[in-house]
Amino acid sequence: MKISKRVTWSNKIKKYKVHPLKYLEPESYQDVVAAIREAEQTGARIRAVGSGHSYSDVAITDGYLVNMCRLCRLLPLKKEQLKAAWQTQPLVEVEAGITVEKLNKQLDKQGVALINMGAIDNQTISGAIATGTHGAGRHLPALSGLVRSMVLVAAGGKTYRIEPTDGITDPSQHNEEDITLIQDDDTFYSVVVSLGCTGIIYSYVLAVVPRYWLYENRSVDMWFKVKEKLANGKMFDDYFIKLNGKDVKLPVRSIFIVVNPFKVKGEHTCMITRTFEIDKPPRWRLKDGTRAILSSILSRVPLTFYLSLFVVNNIPRLVPRMLETSIKAVRDATYINKSYKVLFQGFEYIASQGHGSEFAYDRHQTTYLEVMEEIFDKVAQLAHQFKLYPSSAPTIRFVKGSPAYLTPEYQTDVCYIGNPVLVRQKGASLILNAYQDIHLARGGKPHWGKITNRLDGETELIRHWYPKFETWRQTMLQFNPAGTFLNGFAERMRLDEP
Ligand SMILES: Cc1cc2nc3c(=O)[nH]c(=O)nc-3n(C[C@H](O)[C@H](O)[C@H](O)COP(=O)(O)OP(=O)(O)OC[C@H]3O[C@@H](n4cnc5c(N)ncnc54)[C@H](O)[C@@H]3O)c2cc1C
Repeated sequence: MKISKRVTWSNKIKKYKVHPLKYLEPESYQDVVAAIREAEQTGARIRAVGSGHSYSDVAITDGYLVNMCRLCRLLPLKKEQLKAAWQTQPLVEVEAGITVEKLNKQLDKQGVALINMGAIDNQTISGAIATGTHGAGRHLPALSGLVRSMVLVAAGGKTYRIEPTDGITDPSQHNEEDITLIQDDDTFYSVVVSLGCTGIIYSYVLAVVPRYWLYENRSVDMWFKVKEKLANGKMFDDYFIKLNGKDVKLPVRSIFIVVNPFKVKGEHTCMITRTFEIDKPPRWRLKDGTRAILSSILSRVPLTFYLSLFVVNNIPRLVPRMLETSIKAVRDATYINKSYKVLFQGFEYIASQGHGSEFAYDRHQTTYLEVMEEIFDKVAQLAHQFKLYPSSAPTIRFVKGSPAYLTPEYQTDVCYIGNPVLVRQKGASLILNAYQDIHLARGGKPHWGKITNRLDGETELIRHWYPKFETWRQTMLQFNPAGTFLNGFAERMRLDEP
């Protein structure tokens, strides 16, 4: 195991920096056990970290910081220990530190794929699952919904294989040395999304699906029309696309909407990205396999980012036009590729310079549409009063409800509203606070990995949103009785208090 002292670790947007007592890169499950035992002996706290892509301080500790980057292998699945019905199902076991990007490539080689993922692939699978990372698709789960079994190393280095009550492992066949099998819904749905507070996850068994292809269509429409179609459900109707030279009507797999928060020519313009599952096209032309070429190139070029930042900070009145142009640049763009390439939404350079918050609302209520209108009003007010023009456009995505106790979509199909802002925009925190205040007043539930500072002191809300919070907390204390895996974030949210 690589061990360093005097390392400065910061999250990717460099908002949070820390000098941990020890910085460790375990190479095996035994290394994780040893790291936890050593931290406990010295009275230090310990926490696993993934790629550091969370915007919040959820991954920070000044004790032992365990970077999972070397634990990134696909493991042989122990089929003989599974119940008969599961032995023929497509499952893979992976070490927790594998990035989504590497996992996708490895799965592709085996002819399988993830059913969904977030908009980027730089996260580790454990970092993404631990904060409830989701993609788009009202019938599709977040990444935590793919987990069928996981190996958790907890206090004392004790190790558990944790599964739902009707889990995949046949208890009579389970023979992993030093690993205790727990098959219990309360334990599983508490640990799967637990922000690193229950211990260090060493591996997951994930459900995968046979490799599939996606067709992505990006179109432009006016917000008032989109809003109406969202309210009456027509937005989710089957949709005509041009496939192999023919017009075909297909079920929409996912919808991702980006809305210009400024009115240009009297209206808010939206970019709507729809995906459709298709068979591999008989003729696959290079032009189908690349997104709108100019915007793809520009999104990778730092110059584009610096130009945008310059405009935002120095000629802010141009921001509404700038957003309008970037939304319209992808009008009618078609992109066909293997699933994971389409699910990766691009905008690499600019995305890594942004941060933001994201809040979930019951999809079956219209509150989220009212919240969007409130955001537009707030944006207009900030621009008018303070000449502060938010650099980025709000987003809308839908995600299927989840049984995991601490996910914003717990038992509810949700609409997520995202509010990105460039990190280096002057006044960025003021803008993000204004957005968060709207969401908190409207009952939105925050994404744990994104900016949540306005939640400080709102601990009652967390108990209110999550009816299973006390079960989650009791489970967390079972694996973490001395608070070894807590950090400043967990304490601010008082996740250890009844
Ligand atoms: C450009 C960009 C785009 C994004 N797009 C999306 C999106 O489309 N959808 C979405 O939902 N989110 C999105 N996010 C948020 C991101 O997916 C989450 O913040 C995710 O948690 C980051 O993963 P990570 O590997 O960087 O984890 P980190 O940020 O390093 O850690 C996150 C948490 O996981 C814990 N953790 C990590 N590994 C382990 C382990 N092995 N055991 C126990 N705990 C562990 C950490 O302690 C921490 O609490 C985006 C972020 C960025 C920067």
